[in-house]
Amino acid sequence: MAKIFDSSASYEVIRRLEIAGHEAVFVGGAVRDHLLKKTAKDIDIATSAEPDEVKAVFDNTIDVGIAHGTVLVLIENEAIEVTTFRTEGTYTDHRRPDHVHFVKTLREDLLRRDFTINALAMTKSGQIIDLFDGEKDLNERVIRAVGNQAERFHEDALRMLRAVRFSSVLDFDIEAGTLQAIHDNAHQIKHVSIERIKIELDKLFTGVNPMKALNILFSSQLGKELSLCTDKMEELKRALPFNTASEGWAFFATIAGITPSELANHFKLSNEERNFIKAVHKIYTKRLTSDYTINDYYLHGLPELKCAEKFFHATSEDSVTLTDLDIEANKNSLPIQSKQDLVVNGKDLIEWTGLSGGPWTGKWIGKIEQAVLHGKCENTLIDIKDWFMNDFKCEK
Ligand code: ATP
Ligand code: MG
Repeated sequence: MAKIFDSSASYEVIRRLEIAGHEAVFVGGAVRDHLLKKTAKDIDIATSAEPDEVKAVFDNTIDVGIAHGTVLVLIENEAIEVTTFRTEGTYTDHRRPDHVHFVKTLREDLLRRDFTINALAMTKSGQIIDLFDGEKDLNERVIRAVGNQAERFHEDALRMLRAVRFSSVLDFDIEAGTLQAIHDNAHQIKHVSIERIKIELDKLFTGVNPMKALNILFSSQLGKELSLCTDKMEELKRALPFNTASEGWAFFATIAGITPSELANHFKLSNEERNFIKAVHKIYTKRLTSDYTINDYYLHGLPELKCAEKFFHATSEDSVTLTDLDIEANKNSLPIQSKQDLVVNGKDLIEWTGLSGGPWTGKWIGKIEQAVLHGKCENTLIDIKDWFMNDFKCEK
């Protein structure tokens, strides 16, 4: 029988668990994505075997989350996550269960999952197990909580943001009762760690329909609770799509009135993301009053320049703006892209002057860099030497 997933290792994991007398199925996002004819990002297997029993079946395993029933099985050069059927205890802190209970039936396991479309399972021969009409919701493109919505969000407030994220990623609507429960329980999102929130927002920004999700975020108060609001809806619409999650963060740090530092600190952005949103903010602010200079093209990367220009376009209707191709052409036409491209270095300066090395070489390399960049001399040994010897003499 043809295999649905490319990962032959995952089939081998199920086969071996079954031989050992356990039940094992594909579950969650992988099954959903298969039915949507999309390639699954990660394949999860759920099993009746308890972690020790899983470990007894395979030679190589890693305890990644034993307390939650998850064992990573290393097999055929792949790492497959295998999780014991479980239910979750009470959630006194609204973000993680006080304890998990291993259970023997798949039904109990599927009941604890967030949405009907994520509560689908599939046997290794491709038979779908659908206890909550998940396939119907998939066909109708609806996100519906499994069971009592308010209770499910009360247990784990992150699920509200997951619903909103899926509405962007899948371009699905959130079922009315589930949406109402998000409105009613939005304030509980404060119990969720910022790291988990950020992961969902990253996915939301780069989804198929971020506008749909952001509209829900703002109208449900979730946005306000997350300190992620804007009244610049038209501008936001024009700034979409975001090519990367960083562009989404940059929008809020540039247009929505939160400073880049505040946003980066609040959402614990990585250094790379922090630098990106700061650069976009800086370029955009300058762009409001002037055209890009040679140094702007030189100092900033293409992603930052393009993103700032996109935001400029989104916020200043009448201005003539540059296309991505214009920006690429302008940057590529610079005589050098970085200091490393210069054909001379400090040693050349020492040789030409007969002086010994020191901080002065760095200072003059900087001057040469600017001279080449602004076309005062070509990036050739002869030209640079000419320009340098002349200016160096003048300054002395
Ligand atoms: P993605 O495509 O982003 O991986 P996913 O649905 O696979 O989406 P995961 O975070 O990988 O999401 O979780 C795997 C499965 O675990 C989900 O499909 C769902 O069944 C269950 N799940 C994940 N997070 C929760 C949660 N907070 N509450 C209940 N069930 C959850
Ligand atoms: Mg997944």
